Amino acid sequence: MPTLDNDAVKSRYAQEREKRLRADGNAQYVRLAGDLATDPYEPMVERPPCRDHVTVAIVGGGFAGLLTASRLSELGLDDFRVVEKGGGFGGTWYWNRYPGVQCDTASMVYMPLLEETGYMPSEKYAHGPEILDHCERIAHHFDLSDKALFHTVVTDLEWDDEAARWIVRTDRGDEFTAQFVAMGTGPLHVAKLPGIPGIQSFEGHAFHTSRWDYDYTGGDARGAPLDNLGDKRVGVIGTGATSVQVVPSLAPWVEELYVFQRTPSSVDVRDNHPIDPEWFESIATPGWQQRWLENFTANQAMGTAEEDLVQDGWTDVSRRIRDLIASLPPEKMTREGFANAFQEADIEKMSEIRARIDDVVDDPETADALKAWYWQFCKRPCFHDEYLDAFNSPNTHLVDTNGQGVERVTPAGVVAGGREYELDCLIFASGFEVGTAYTDRAGFEVTGRDGRRLSEEWRDGMRTMQGTYVHGFPNAFLVQPFQGGNLISNIPHNLVEAARTIAMIVAHTLEGGHSRVEVSAEAQEDWLALLRSAPPRVAGAGGCTPGYYNNEGQPGAGDFVGGYPGGPQRYFQYLDDWRSTGSFDGLEFS
Ligand code: NDP
Repeated sequence: MPTLDNDAVKSRYAQEREKRLRADGNAQYVRLAGDLATDPYEPMVERPPCRDHVTVAIVGGGFAGLLTASRLSELGLDDFRVVEKGGGFGGTWYWNRYPGVQCDTASMVYMPLLEETGYMPSEKYAHGPEILDHCERIAHHFDLSDKALFHTVVTDLEWDDEAARWIVRTDRGDEFTAQFVAMGTGPLHVAKLPGIPGIQSFEGHAFHTSRWDYDYTGGDARGAPLDNLGDKRVGVIGTGATSVQVVPSLAPWVEELYVFQRTPSSVDVRDNHPIDPEWFESIATPGWQQRWLENFTANQAMGTAEEDLVQDGWTDVSRRIRDLIASLPPEKMTREGFANAFQEADIEKMSEIRARIDDVVDDPETADALKAWYWQFCKRPCFHDEYLDAFNSPNTHLVDTNGQGVERVTPAGVVAGGREYELDCLIFASGFEVGTAYTDRAGFEVTGRDGRRLSEEWRDGMRTMQGTYVHGFPNAFLVQPFQGGNLISNIPHNLVEAARTIAMIVAHTLEGGHSRVEVSAEAQEDWLALLRSAPPRVAGAGGCTPGYYNNEGQPGAGDFVGGYPGGPQRYFQYLDDWRSTGSFDGLEFS
């Protein structure tokens, strides 16, 4: 490998960031509306509104909601209700059924409750339909289906302090009460479109990847041929993790494919393979999945693993960092020395990823345009074995916009770089809202004790203890990773632990004859101070290219979604210790 000029690389990173910075940040996007927002998968079923009481209301039927419900169920707490905006369980896996949909995290650790449900994943990296089936499996195993309200959007949560209950209101006319609420609304559920002129004017067919229209394209999410597209010119806007999977699945079926790129993703090797049942039997001894979860987490940066069970792109970069740190002479074992080791490992990894493009992509100009010039964790790392190769196909064209994005949509197609591309079908792989205010994304206000509004409490950023409890909002829990483990390489691990904790807290409150549980103001402040003591993200120091990991390059709420300073492995150990004391320090029961 040639010696890398790290300064030249860093200066290119800065230039590429500069090119993409824009003052409107998150405001550059618009939400789906009208037909673009409709659920193409399940019809709405009429039902009378609910006016009753349950012990726990769970908002969201994705992994967060499914896991919370399952853990409550395991503790014999069956009086709960799941409210879900989709027509079934699955959350992101319900909505994202685009061709090629697959999980980038190994199924042995990504798919929760495998051991409890007795399921062996078919591949190292499972495809979406298998994960959606697994969501159904969990629902079936824990008998959750008749406890769910589907196609129902919570519009308001209001605490009634006298009754010590939450009032839950929905867009289906429900108004029921719940002693506890658990909000598992997910970080990636509000689809967004580029807010460019003319988006409504397109006269061809258009949809967002999370509302894939198989009636139009033919085929299905399980890989049946997209056989209606043979005479169609198709455009895809966006080159994030979704597009990386969509492009190679579309390319063989369409007449012409135009991929409009603003920023390339880093695309590492995938290396998927079927899981061998004999091998699985040999490792699936009691407690296996918890062991794998802990091992994967211990293999992330700041972890202490001695072996690597999963062995993939996520653990590879962390291993390099750890190896580099271990090789430092004692005088370089300093914060600066660690920072340099992080940067060196990152530059080495990204250089390899860029070099692979030259090996795979025939056209040098296209290869060059596909190279990502930023620290690997500035954007979601991607893994795929066919994405780059798709651009060798004569019908597949990369339209690179030099960091500026597409300019406008016209009745006939898309304009980029001053040229109009005529299209029959336009697919928005433009992602989901992340950095906007929590209550805007959730779609409901949460009004706690003394009329406190969550939107106001969090005006300057999220404020919680462990990412779960908010002072002023008794009996309410968030089921999500930020301000807790913050393990982004395996979101379900965060949810498995949060759900387990919440079920224990609910049980403890009820068993103690209490009506309320709330984090004290002091404990929350202490937690926030602990989070602030974490060193800044080293690899991105000096600036990341804009994206949803850094609030589109703007200061703001996105800056305050870090995690436990010791990293996810230590966080989960801390949480386990905290739970096992049984006193749940920081929480007040009354
Ligand atoms: P992303 O937000 O990652 O990507 C959106 C894409 O749209 C980016 O390439 C963005 O460019 C581009 N874009 C936005 N506006 C414009 C414009 N005006 N012109 C041209 N391009 C534009 O969304 P995804 O749906 O791809 O992924 C969201 C997340 O979902 C992932 O990060 C990942 O966490 C998860 N996911 C996981 C998968 C897995 O496990 N395999 C698969 C798919 C998604 P720019 O980068 O410049 O902003």
